Parts: sequence; structure tokens; C-alpha cells
Amino acid sequence: MSQATSHVCPTCDWVCEVPNLSAGERARCPRCAHSIARGGPRTHAGTLALSLTGLILLALSIGFDFLSFDVQGRGHTIRLLDAGTVLLDQTYLFLGILVLATTVFLPGLYLAGAFYLSLALARDRPLPGSTAVCRWLAPIEPWMMSDVFIVGILVSLIKIVTLANVMLGPAFYTFCAYAILMLAITSRFHPTDYWHRFVPAGNLAARPQAGRTAAAQGCAGCHACGLIFTASGTRACPRCGHRLPAAAGLRLQRTWALLAAASVLLLPANLMPIMATVSLGYTTPATIIGGVVHMVETGSWPIALIIFVASIVVPIAKIGMLGWLCLKLQTGRPATRLGDLRVYRVTEVIGRWSMIDIFVVAVLTALIQADQYMAVSPGPAAASFAAVVLLTMLAAQSLDPRLIAQRHTPT
Ligand SMILES: [Zn+2]
Ligand SMILES: [Zn+2]
Repeated sequence: MSQATSHVCPTCDWVCEVPNLSAGERARCPRCAHSIARGGPRTHAGTLALSLTGLILLALSIGFDFLSFDVQGRGHTIRLLDAGTVLLDQTYLFLGILVLATTVFLPGLYLAGAFYLSLALARDRPLPGSTAVCRWLAPIEPWMMSDVFIVGILVSLIKIVTLANVMLGPAFYTFCAYAILMLAITSRFHPTDYWHRFVPAGNLAARPQAGRTAAAQGCAGCHACGLIFTASGTRACPRCGHRLPAAAGLRLQRTWALLAAASVLLLPANLMPIMATVSLGYTTPATIIGGVVHMVETGSWPIALIIFVASIVVPIAKIGMLGWLCLKLQTGRPATRLGDLRVYRVTEVIGRWSMIDIFVVAVLTALIQADQYMAVSPGPAAASFAAVVLLTMLAAQSLDPRLIAQRHTPT
């Protein structure tokens, strides 16, 4: 038996009818090609097992040795949390909290939440507080960066491999497995399954016509729970409480403000040292571009390319692309095309990879401590650079893609 369900495309607001999908099948919006629904898995036991395995791997990654650094017989071993706690100990509070939150705490919370909701779904009944858990799960997802942290660790190891013996501890391998598992869980687990199963839409649901935008029919689609409802006067989803995006003018103002702050911070982030190395009493500061030049000079040009793209090209390109989109929306230029939506999606996907350099600084600071013949500490640019990454991510979230899509006819 086949039964179509209505979906509102989160990118362009198009109302689509989607038939029942088999496992592995994917439905795309006919207007902008954004993926709007995936088929299966229909059993939740697999997600339950994956999230439990992820939690166990995370616990092992925290509990065992992560990396060891040995130079001329003087060694130092760190654990995973040291990448953040050493920064906190050295009063780099913002950096320390950012590193711990994005690599351990937020992914851990997400895993625990996914486990709890999968348990409710597998038992076919809600558990105490599970609806509240479902509300805070979706906002966490963009801030989980275990995969970016892995790349940051690899870059750090290549930077210091000529200086000392670096040994990978058991926690390094469990953390890699955990990061891969996180990717599998986020692509497999859908909080909307919970809402559909336990909080039926009932008479809250509107039935807009497919083949037009929801906004043109006085409706809205909730990104968090998938409900389509009549949007007159309401600023939040009546089922899950997820807030609708603010009015267009306010969103543009907020995006401009975030981009302006990021642009200002880009200057100290690039002109001041991001890291300082103290060796035999001499301090050698290194800017981002200085680090890239050094890697090229020492023959590590692939790493130089990664850092150059992630730390210099991506933040500037992201600010440029978002500013360009804002300008088009602000001036009402009629040439806005759906190609602009692709530009927007690129800014959303690439932004988090700029965190590589911050993770490199965190790992090297933890690994190379003052009790050896040299020490590494974050430079004044590190906090500015991390703020640039955060502000541009918030700017991309603030500029709702439906603003761009609304300027494209038909509605
Ligand atoms: Zn679409
Ligand atoms: Zn909702």
C-alpha cells in the first residue's frame, strides 16, 4: 500500500508530495534538488546499537591515553580532554570551552539523546522527558566537530613528526572509530521519526497544495518536526515549539551584524600570531600565513594547502558569499536565481572546517608542555580566529535560505 505524505522543502519552501520510500531511497525537491526525505531504516534497534557503541567508544577515548610525545628521553602523554583542559588551565577560557564543547560534550549529548529516543522508538512508547530531549537534539547537530578534530590531530602530528617521536595511544583509535560512527548516526537518525510516532499532528496539520510554496498558501513547514501548519500570527511550531525564522528585515540586519563582526576580527586573526613556540628561551610567534609558508618550505605542501584553504580561503570566501547574498536580497535585484541557494549551501557545509587550525593549536599546546625543552601556547589571533568561525556559522544560520528562494518565481 502506497501513501503519499506532504513535505515542505527546508531550503526553498516548496510543498512536495512524497510516496513511501524503501530503505536507501531518497526524495529530492523538484524545485531546488535538496534532499527532503530518506527511506528507512524502519527498525530502530540498529540506531540504538550504534549510539550505544558510540557512547562506549567516547568513554574509552576519554579514559585511555590519547597521544604521547617523546623528545630526547623526555616524554609527555595526554588524554583526549587535555586538548581543552590545558587551554582552560592557561586561562584561554573561550578556546578551551569551544574545543571541549565541539569535540566531546555536544557530540556526547547528541549520542545520549539519540540513544534515549531510539530506545523509546524501539519500545514503541515515550520515555520520561524524551519529548524534551527531542527538542534540543536538532540545534546541537551543526556544532559537532569530531571529524574536523581528527583532521586537526593529523595536521598537528605532521607538524611535529620531525621534532620528536609521537606515539598514538589506544584512545586515538577509539576516537577515530567514534568520529566515523557519529557520521553514520547523524545520517541514520531522524528526530522527526519520534514526532511522527508519539506526537501526532492531528488537527494542527494544514494541507497546502503541492507544487507551490507553503508561504504563498499561508502555511509554514517546521524544520525540526516536519509539521506543516497554518502560519498566521504564530512564530513557533505548535507541535514542537521550534521557532520560525524572524522577519526578513530582521534576519538581514542580524546577518549583516554578524558578518561585520567577523570581518573586523579577520584582521587580528590573520595579522597576529595564532601560536607561539618557546624553545631554549626564544619565543617564535607564527601567524596563519607564516605557518603555511613554513609548511611549504619544509616540503609539506599538502598540509600547507589544507591549512591555506581551511584557514584563509574559506573564512574570506564565506564572508564574501554571504555578504553578496545579503546585498542581493537587500537591493532587491531581480537576478536572484536558484543557483544562489547552492552558494548558500556551500557556505553552510564548508564553514566548520576552518576549525582545523584551532584544533591544531589545542593539540600542540596540550602535547608540548613547558616541562620539555620547548613549549607551545596559543597566540592572540587564536581567539579572534575561533570567533570568526563561530560568527560566520551563525551568520549562515541567520540567513534563512527561504529568503533567497522567495525571490524566485513562481511561488
Ligand atoms: Zn526545494
Ligand atoms: Zn515542529
